[in-house]
Amino acid sequence: MLFADVVGQSAAKAHLLGMWQQNHLPHALLINGKEGTGGLALALALTQFLMCEDKSKEDACGKCPNCQKAAKMEHADVHYSFPTIRNTEKKIEPLSNNYLKEFRKFTLSHTYGTTYEWLQFINAENKQGNISAEECRIIIEKLNLKAYEGGLKIMIIWRPEYLGKSGNILLKLIEEPPADTLIILVSESVEEILPTILSRVQLIKLPPTQATEIEKVLASQHKLEASKAKQIAMMADGSYTEALTLLQHIENDLFPMAKQWFNMLFTQNGIGVSKFVEELAKKGREQQKSFLQYVIHLLEATIRHRYTHRSILANEELAFVQKLSATALSFEAIQSLIEDLDKASYCIQRNANGKIQLQALSIKMMYAIQNKKVSSLVQ
Ligand SMILES: [Zn+2]
Repeated sequence: MLFADVVGQSAAKAHLLGMWQQNHLPHALLINGKEGTGGLALALALTQFLMCEDKSKEDACGKCPNCQKAAKMEHADVHYSFPTIRNTEKKIEPLSNNYLKEFRKFTLSHTYGTTYEWLQFINAENKQGNISAEECRIIIEKLNLKAYEGGLKIMIIWRPEYLGKSGNILLKLIEEPPADTLIILVSESVEEILPTILSRVQLIKLPPTQATEIEKVLASQHKLEASKAKQIAMMADGSYTEALTLLQHIENDLFPMAKQWFNMLFTQNGIGVSKFVEELAKKGREQQKSFLQYVIHLLEATIRHRYTHRSILANEELAFVQKLSATALSFEAIQSLIEDLDKASYCIQRNANGKIQLQALSIKMMYAIQNKKVSSLVQ
């Protein structure tokens, strides 16, 4: 993985490169960022960069033998530790060594995958993953071995939250690793990491990925048309993982649908709304959910626009938001529309009947737009 392949996170990249250029890279790093911000991608990019024999100031070359090995996660001096499960049927002990092949396959195809997806990938079903005390002892052993290639040894520990108290076994190692060793921990929630570990690592915080960065990658790598890339980027809330999920579920440009729905809601076109609901209800649950989430984002953009006159939207969407923000709809009314949409989306996710939910939601929204109290009319 090259730094160039990590979505956004330019400040973190610059920070890591800066430390390396000044010879100040610590021996234990903790990269922390919410799901979808690319912590693991960044750890892999830093690893390849450090191993590269022909790097520039900004990135690995991507071509040298070390780069090739690192890119395939097959470099002998790069080790990985991650949550695993005990598989009693196949008699597989919960150790990273026993799941390395799967981890490689998962990570190379889902670098932005979630821990939940990883655990499903190894058929954990309801089992919680874990990084055990035994695993910690193996980590220590591995890092005390001589480097195969005589250079740097790197240990990436993905989701140290899963260490629990076993993490204490690693304290001495993290504080004083053997020479030429770098330990990179990649977490999503600092609060779940032992304070004794936290105090021994240098923390690199990843902010939510900027929508414009997500949009760029969706347009260039996934060949999305600009309007759809923008929509998905806006809905992804800073998570590239979420953007990839939305990408699978959103078939069409959602804007024309949203515009049509609002036009009918504003003009009290009950028959039109019924037809619209019928059509939407025929689509899958994920489509319905995505549509409602998209409308929520449009309304949130409307509130932002009203107060700041700024928006990340463009063209038709921007015009729509400008128009909506100029209506007499109060802040409270928009807020309550958002809550209703969110509730309906949640119910649909929980298998409620889509058609009934969407119909009730439409009626509620029509009344709200007319500024009438609806609590007694529709429940
Ligand atoms: Zn290279």
